[in-house]
Amino acid sequence: MRKPTGRRKRIAIVGAGWTGAVAGRLLTEMGLAVEVLEKAGVVGGHSRVELLNGVVYEPNGAHIFHTSDPVVNRFVTAHGLSRPYDHKVLTEVYLSPDDADDEGCLLSWPPQVSELKELPVWPAVERELAGLPSRPTGDNFEDYVVSMMGRTLYDLFIRDYTAKQWGRPATELSARFAPKRVELRTDDHRGLFRDRWQYFPPNGINEVIESVLSVVAVTLNTEVTIDDADDLGRAYDAVVITAALDDFAGCPGELEWRGIEMRSHYHPTNDPGGVITPAYVTNRPSARVPHTRTVETKHATGQRIGGTVVSEEMPGAPQNHYPVLTADGVNERRNAELAGWITARFSIPVYFAGRLATYRYINQDEAIADAMSVAARILTDLAG
Ligand SMILES: Cc1cc2nc3c(=O)[nH]c(=O)nc-3n(C[C@H](O)[C@H](O)[C@H](O)COP(=O)(O)OP(=O)(O)OC[C@H]3O[C@@H](n4cnc5c(N)ncnc54)[C@H](O)[C@@H]3O)c2cc1C
Repeated sequence: MRKPTGRRKRIAIVGAGWTGAVAGRLLTEMGLAVEVLEKAGVVGGHSRVELLNGVVYEPNGAHIFHTSDPVVNRFVTAHGLSRPYDHKVLTEVYLSPDDADDEGCLLSWPPQVSELKELPVWPAVERELAGLPSRPTGDNFEDYVVSMMGRTLYDLFIRDYTAKQWGRPATELSARFAPKRVELRTDDHRGLFRDRWQYFPPNGINEVIESVLSVVAVTLNTEVTIDDADDLGRAYDAVVITAALDDFAGCPGELEWRGIEMRSHYHPTNDPGGVITPAYVTNRPSARVPHTRTVETKHATGQRIGGTVVSEEMPGAPQNHYPVLTADGVNERRNAELAGWITARFSIPVYFAGRLATYRYINQDEAIADAMSVAARILTDLAG
């Protein structure tokens, strides 16, 4: 880490995903001397795509950009993210799960009442829906979702998916994130999101994030931890941390995370437009398979190439992907304590932003908005 050379304020940013990239860009444009320090050999963080035999695929899971925030939308379109994409998800459901001959059927996700009416289970579903409270209730995820769609739909679409995804029954999970994830639709809107702007870039997100960082000093292959606090304090006027705080503080595992592993395989196709699964994302909620969904990014890129890549999303990998929001909120409290402990170890102001450091599940547009607000806060604080 270099010593400051001029009078410009120097800001270190730990991590070159969306959050670090956008904060870095804005602070650089505002005249600060920014250095983004990234532990990987590439920028882009979790949203990156890679190539397998020339096919664009997503090693960290499907990433569809969607936002209703006009400021965020203006920012990303200025950096080339502008190809519209309407994201529709399918779910493979087994109506007779104990019957080995049941080959399953494909339905929309979120479930659509108009499709459900065609199923033999509809009379039972209809009876259950008629008995539901006017607003969903319940502190845990299972109670909340059952009160939203009834037991039959919960068992078909949610129960086993949730147990596979989180490695614990839905009764142990908080109901807090259900409203964001689960819906029963009566309006025939098939797109997963209702945001005003939705994009998928034809070559993946990398070149968009690289454009954001094009005017920013980035140092790759540099992991920053609490052990660097004194060096950072001497070299910079403030630091923005977008890393997971348990790792950063040198106590990995202190926070509970749920990770996924994408098992990606290349398949040749005769047709350059060829795909082999029914949709970009197909949910597989059944306990018959260990993965939770398949992802075939070629549906979204529209790439013309004689091959495709299908990734099976396997839950339970040792990665910091999803924060685990238990009903007692213990992990959020621990993250706040770690933030306080880290701040106290620094002699300069410390800011936490993004999905990892704030221990929240946030989409890319929310990470960008977070970066914008941290950049504004830093400017205000430095001026004060
Ligand atoms: C499985 C999954 C699917 C998702 N799908 C979507 C989707 O469809 N649409 C959507 O909008 N959002 C999606 N998201 C959310 C999206 O991934 C995040 O919003 C986005 O990655 C947040 O960017 P970030 O910069 O905060 O974090 P990250 O992208 O994780 O970037 C953090 C960066 O910091 C680096 N780093 C970490 N520790 C250190 C350290 N100690 N020193 C230096 N560098 C470090 C990392 O290498 C990484 O580059 C998904 C998330 C997951 C987990």
